[in-house]
Order: sequence, then C-alpha cells, then structure tokens
Amino acid sequence: MKLRRFRYLFLMFFGVAIAAVIGAIAMFISPPNAEAFQAAIAPSNPQLGDTISVTLQMEQPADAVSNAPVVVMNRQQYPAFRIGQNRWRAFIPTTPLDRPGKQRIEVVGEGRSQKFDLKLRDRRFPIQDIWMDDNTASIEGTDREFDRVDAFKRLVTPQKFWQGALLRPNEGPVTSGFGVRRNYNGVFAKDYYHRGVDYAGEVGSAVVAPAAGQVRLVGRERDGFRIHGNVVGLDHGQGVESIFLHLSRIDVREGDFVQAGQTVGGVGSTGATTGPHLHWGFYVNGLAVNPVPWRSQSIE
Ligand SMILES: [Zn+2]
Repeated sequence: MKLRRFRYLFLMFFGVAIAAVIGAIAMFISPPNAEAFQAAIAPSNPQLGDTISVTLQMEQPADAVSNAPVVVMNRQQYPAFRIGQNRWRAFIPTTPLDRPGKQRIEVVGEGRSQKFDLKLRDRRFPIQDIWMDDNTASIEGTDREFDRVDAFKRLVTPQKFWQGALLRPNEGPVTSGFGVRRNYNGVFAKDYYHRGVDYAGEVGSAVVAPAAGQVRLVGRERDGFRIHGNVVGLDHGQGVESIFLHLSRIDVREGDFVQAGQTVGGVGSTGATTGPHLHWGFYVNGLAVNPVPWRSQSIE
C-alpha cells in the first residue's frame, strides 16, 4: 500500500515535471508565422547624416512588454520609446564620418531578435579651406564648457516634446550647411565635420526654438564658455537636442519649457567665431545629424 502510494506520487510528480519542460520548450520555439513584431525603417534609402528611424509594431500591447525593445547597429544600442498602443520607435544617428555601404540593424524585443540589412549611401560634402593665424588657433575651450556641453548632448529624456516638422531657427540666410568638411592650413581634418547649420542673421535677430523642448543648458561667455560663447541647449526629448551657439543674449532660463517658435535668444558673435552668426547643432543620441530632413517632414 505504502509503495503503491509512493509510485502514484512519483508518477504524478514526474508527469508535472515533463509538462513543465515541454511548456518551457514551447515558449522558446515559436511557430514560424508568429513574429513578435514588425519593423519599418525610414528613410528606406538613407545617406550619411540622416537619422534612421526604426518603428516597431509589437504583437503585445506595450504594457505587456516587460522590457522596451532595443535596436542595435554597429554594436551600438539605441533605446526604443513607445509612440502608440503597440508601437515603438528608435533613432539611429548617422554622420559624415560613418562608413557608407551595407549595414545590419538588429532588433531585440519580446525575447526575439530580427535582423535587417540596409545600404547607407555615401554623400559628398563640400570641403572648406580654413587658414588660421596663431591667434585664432590658440583659443582654447574650458573644461567647464566641454563638460556641460558633452553632458547636455548625452541627455536621453523619456518624454517626447517635439511635434511635427522643425521650424527654421533664424531668418538669416544659410552660410554653411551641415556636414561641410575642412582643410586646416591645407591639411584635411578627418575627424571634423560641420556639426550644424549656420545662419547669417543680423546681430540681435531672434533665435527661435525649432520645436518644443526644455532648456537644459545655459552657458555664458563670461562663465568660461570661450568656444561656444553664450549658448542655449534645448532638449526635445527621447535623445533629440538642439544647441545654439554664439548668442548675443539669452532669453530663457535652465528648466524652462519652450514652445516651437518661441524666442530663446539673439544672434551674436560670442565665443570662437569670425563674425556674427547662429550655429544650430542638432543632435540625436549624442551625434550631430543633418537637421534638414527634420525640417522638411514630420518625424514621429
Ligand atoms: Zn557652425
């Protein structure tokens, strides 16, 4: 009797254990047509300097996803943010320093991974010759300004503040576009590219926020911002930031929330500059990207 009961218990235990193992295996082997998510990549034919947007349509509602999906390219991880019921989006910044050609994007989410190939098109940027005398070359930035600016560019705020296509930050004509390369005193600077767009607005003319955001950086020439001059940094959220250099005045305070089109300062020539102009730097996940596509279309 005792032995029989033991056998019975043993079989029951064994049965439950086998069921658990089968269940665990089934969780790992998914039917071939059941994809956890669908990915859309835009633009489909990106070129150097573009922001690659990876949009994920998840099978599960976002609340059921314990961990946010992650997008990987060139061993760099980019965070995805929820932009709808079951939709997530990650941005991959590309720059003139990237190697053009075939790129592989890996998306990891809901315990599964998918790979996509895309071709990053080459793009020729104008090369500018800069001849510097010893005086100009000897302007040195301070640790304070570089530390503050670097920390600002690394901000990744979960909220999204921008909405729709970006506005032009100043009415002046563009004098130097994004991505321009340089020869310094005849030598090609292989790590340099123009990390923004320059506008030759009149001194004091309004610099407006291209999109809504929070002021997360205010620096002044008199406080050691020798290279940047008077500077305002706007956090548009989710790793997207604008920085405005060489301002004559600053009309906002750190922590302020500003609307698209709101004046944040005036064009000037503070810091290391050869004349009055606005430098607008546009950063995505820490890298300066071409803001032009963001001006011509609404990027979600
Ligand atoms: Zn510039």
